[in-house]
Amino acid sequence: MARIPEVVVAMDWGGTWARASVADKSGELLWNTRLANVVGGNQEQLLEDAESVLRRAIDWCGDRQIGGIGVAAAGPIDIETGTFYALPNLAVLDGVSLKEMWEAKLGYPVFIGNDANLAALGELKYGAGLDTLKLGRQTRTLVYVTVSTGIGGGVMDRGQMLLGANGMAGEVGHMTIDSSDSAPRCQCGNTGCLESLASGTSIARAARSKLSDASFLPSLLAGHDIESITAETVFAAAAQGDHLAQSVLDGAVRALSVGLTNLLHLFNPDIIVLGGGVTKGLTEAGLLERINQGILQRAMSERHKDFSLVSSKLGDSVGMVGAASLVWQELGLA
Ligand SMILES: [Zn+2]
Repeated sequence: MARIPEVVVAMDWGGTWARASVADKSGELLWNTRLANVVGGNQEQLLEDAESVLRRAIDWCGDRQIGGIGVAAAGPIDIETGTFYALPNLAVLDGVSLKEMWEAKLGYPVFIGNDANLAALGELKYGAGLDTLKLGRQTRTLVYVTVSTGIGGGVMDRGQMLLGANGMAGEVGHMTIDSSDSAPRCQCGNTGCLESLASGTSIARAARSKLSDASFLPSLLAGHDIESITAETVFAAAAQGDHLAQSVLDGAVRALSVGLTNLLHLFNPDIIVLGGGVTKGLTEAGLLERINQGILQRAMSERHKDFSLVSSKLGDSVGMVGAASLVWQELGLA
């Protein structure tokens, strides 16, 4: 008789690291490892290294029955075939079907998803959604938004992940917030996207550009080498009362309030979860409540206002826990 799986192997494959963990049914990460992607590595090297990370995780499991392997990757993925398409940080993997390859090589079922979509699943099952469940309420619709170097997101609606026709749904960072001629350019080629107004990259860029405006001076940031200014520098200066830094964060808060209100009207979530490094900065600066108020002011009805805005419970592990959740869900054991 087949044994019931005790653990799953999860992988979070980003632009810098291939990380792997072993997770149990309660979403607990029992063991973790990681390997840096070879900078400028070719397809063969990257795949070989990622596979070696998975083999180490499988070896660690010993006698524990493994249910399968879940992989979260940053970018568009065809989830039926587990094929990568033009991942911004792992472009050499374009067209590779990890599912087919690793199922044959490793002998376990392999499930692949976009990291932001899987983060939404992870938060629903083991993060903010679980907290809500403990309070006796079932989460019907959860929107996850990561505000980091870029901005991405995922939507879980009544237990189903919203994928779109080609698996490209949830690109919340690229909804237009500012359609004026002066809107900043986004890396997607458009202008005025949420990502170009509220991501870590755009916070740093806005601070650099404001330094040339005398009305913001003096500023603590003026003492920095302009290229060394990051979102972290801006948060630190704002905490010390710096007018320029605070005005940059005001802009990001405003853009997020507008963007999240759009999501509220589109999806009518009961929970909006914010993750990523910029969210951490906003939370520490006490700005999450201002975003919440901004959404409430714009929301079109009392029914839409019936939501909570929370920061990610799973933090940096959200993609990993999401990848593990995907396996449990696909096995029908979630
Ligand atoms: Zn964009």
